[in-house]
Amino acid sequence: MSVVALGIDVGSTTCKAVAVDGQGCILARRLEPANPRIEQQAERILQELRAETGSAPPVGATGYGRKRVAASRVLTEITCHARGAFALTHRPGVLVDIGGQDTKVIQIGGNGEVLDFTMNDKCAAGTGRFLETILARLAVPLSEAAEYASRASHPILVSSTCTVFAESEVISMVAAGEPLEGIVKGLHTALASRVSSLTRARAGGEIFMSGGVALNAAMVVALSESLGKPVLVMPDAQFVGAIGAALYAMA
Ligand code: ADP
Repeated sequence: MSVVALGIDVGSTTCKAVAVDGQGCILARRLEPANPRIEQQAERILQELRAETGSAPPVGATGYGRKRVAASRVLTEITCHARGAFALTHRPGVLVDIGGQDTKVIQIGGNGEVLDFTMNDKCAAGTGRFLETILARLAVPLSEAAEYASRASHPILVSSTCTVFAESEVISMVAAGEPLEGIVKGLHTALASRVSSLTRARAGGEIFMSGGVALNAAMVVALSESLGKPVLVMPDAQFVGAIGAALYAMA
């Protein structure tokens, strides 16, 4: 195994780490729920990757907890997501990364450079946390959300723009006898509409999607419907930032 670098993305919801070769291909990986004891968790995960790959290459760190990691390079999430995405696509476009507690929209140029970006890390209603909170209240597992949404004849629209109020609103809908399928579809439509309002201004090119929420097929459909164009899910969508961090560690 020719591991050249390790990359770690210490997110607010999950901690992701990869060991990559010279082209940024993943040779080993870890993904765990984020632990508030960041230093210990990051060091243990990196140690596991070193043991698994029998190597001790340089480490790049990104994510909200990046400054707590012993790494040779420490870089912002925008920088690493753009680098990771370009290494995977080799083309310009708009990257929409929806994580547990923030959403990033990054316009990437023809050489992989960041042309522009917007980030929402102030309001849960525009992030994965919105879906997690309300689906949990509806007792719909995240893993079944796409199936529920696909069975809906139409979305039942949620008008509240705050996660807490939206939670009360859907409980009233359930009490009024509205079908769960339509409510679940409506939640995805609402999140997609908030994210696409960040995206639309920059949506001149292809749209790529990364982050944990890219694994939710209902969200990919809802975002594509909201933007009126295809949304391509990145391979290894949740690891794009960690791959970018590893690529920076090589330089
Ligand atoms: P962060 O980098 O902010 O820690 P991630 O990019 O790891 O966040 O994304 C975490 C979010 O992804 C969570 O809100 C979770 O709901 C969502 N998620 C993770 N895996 C899945 C999955 N298999 N299906 C649907 N949603 C998922």
